[in-house]
Amino acid sequence: MAKYIFVTGGVVSSLGKGITSASIGKLLESKGLKVTLIKCDPYINVDPGTMNPYQHGEVYVLDDGAETDLDLGHYERFTNAKLTRDNNITTGKIYYSVITKERRGDYLGKTVQIIPHITDEIKNSIKKVAENRKVDVIIVEIGGTVGDIESLPFLEAIRQLRLEVGRDYAINVHVTLVPYIKSAGEIKTKPTQHSVGTLREIGIIPDIIICRTEKNLSAEIKAKIALFCSVDNEAVIQAIDVESIYEVPLCLKKENLDKLIMRLLNMKCEDGGLTEWENSTIKRLKFPSREVEIAVVGKYIALQDAYKSIYEALVHGAIVNNAKLIIRKVDSENIEKDGAKSHMEGVGGILVPGGFGSRGIEGKIKAIQYARENKIPYLGLCLGMQTAIVEFARNVCGMKGANSTEFDKRTRFPVISLLEEQKRVSAKGATMRLGAYECALKKSTKAHQVYKKIRIYERHRHRYEFNNKYRAAFERKGIVFSGIYPKKDLVEIIELKDHPWFMACQFHPEFKSKPDKAHPLFREFIKAALKF
Ligand code: GLN
Repeated sequence: MAKYIFVTGGVVSSLGKGITSASIGKLLESKGLKVTLIKCDPYINVDPGTMNPYQHGEVYVLDDGAETDLDLGHYERFTNAKLTRDNNITTGKIYYSVITKERRGDYLGKTVQIIPHITDEIKNSIKKVAENRKVDVIIVEIGGTVGDIESLPFLEAIRQLRLEVGRDYAINVHVTLVPYIKSAGEIKTKPTQHSVGTLREIGIIPDIIICRTEKNLSAEIKAKIALFCSVDNEAVIQAIDVESIYEVPLCLKKENLDKLIMRLLNMKCEDGGLTEWENSTIKRLKFPSREVEIAVVGKYIALQDAYKSIYEALVHGAIVNNAKLIIRKVDSENIEKDGAKSHMEGVGGILVPGGFGSRGIEGKIKAIQYARENKIPYLGLCLGMQTAIVEFARNVCGMKGANSTEFDKRTRFPVISLLEEQKRVSAKGATMRLGAYECALKKSTKAHQVYKKIRIYERHRHRYEFNNKYRAAFERKGIVFSGIYPKKDLVEIIELKDHPWFMACQFHPEFKSKPDKAHPLFREFIKAALKF
């Protein structure tokens, strides 16, 4: 039977619960265990696919087409867990299912209530993953902060689940903030005491307390937290701020978190380490031999989380190339005002990420023109491919006013448009082309050199496609369509003949990159940028 680790958070949000959960997964995998991770999100949206990045950060897409919370990105980057839509449970999904059952008559004669119907639905959703995956450990992260109204049903569900499976089969890990008050020169434990108190009121007793802190915690402070929160001294784990998130598993290991978890869950196994991770990935990350600067031209630049997987994939590309990455975040609306040159000067490469809606589009097009004309390495992702097509149509093929019909329905040259099947769709939730699709690469193209194979699978999240009517016109002017989705003959990758490194794809390669296994497109993009 799989064992459970429930992760809750206290005091404030943005504590890095997702990274902590992913790091625990990494530590357990290093011991030879098989893990999976679940994120429970208390909001009522069925999935985050309908949310603006300013609300929720990036929407992370899985192979099966699920649009999920960005923490699943951390889970996939840190561990080998194979995640599906079942790994992200939301209040919306739970209610949707319970209400559907109620209408069908499954609860005939009963009053349908939060306890037991909603909590049972949550427990069953978690148990379903545990049963189907054949894993040793299942890490369940509860979104939000203890004390929120929304997360109460989830907390009640994990309380019950722990009772059901028994002490040797489940532990509670509470991630909390231990702030340093500068003016007093003191580290404060009271917020942690309060949040553990709140947890206890609802019947959850933490076994491990992970303390997020900017200063080292003394033995006295740890002992104080242990005393007031009723855990062993060794169960108070320091998680100090680090330069890179990829150092977190090492920091937690230094605190012996892996051994503690194994003991509490009564598990014995090999004493594996993180040597490879430490000696290769982290060393290269911390001691790079050169530097590379990449401009990311987007419209959600102000928000750190909006392009999370892209920033991470760039870091991975820099790691394999032994380089330190500098990201220049450029708001595409500023390019509309000032032109591209002043914002782009000095960068080694330009990246235009995915996006929706017309705001900032013309600035992205200008940035792409600048990359094309000045032979600066360019990587376009999804909308970054569509805008590259629009730029090329207007400025090379002479198609004045060319556009995507997303931005100009009446354009004379709809070089990016909707397929017939998408035109019939009006509902917004989960109706895009989503998830992994096959892509066949043309031999002897740059794409083929990059991937070194001819069949790849990449994840999608878009409605619009390249309009095949214009394929020949583009090819005549020097665009190579190097990747195609064979079943429907859709363009997946484009590149320029007359440019050292200009590639764009309709899919999102950033979702499949890992710190110790950079995605080939990012690896080669950074390599080209270093040469520029
Ligand atoms: N808005 C574009 C589309 O729907 C691009 C989407 C994206 O970049 N993810 O096709």
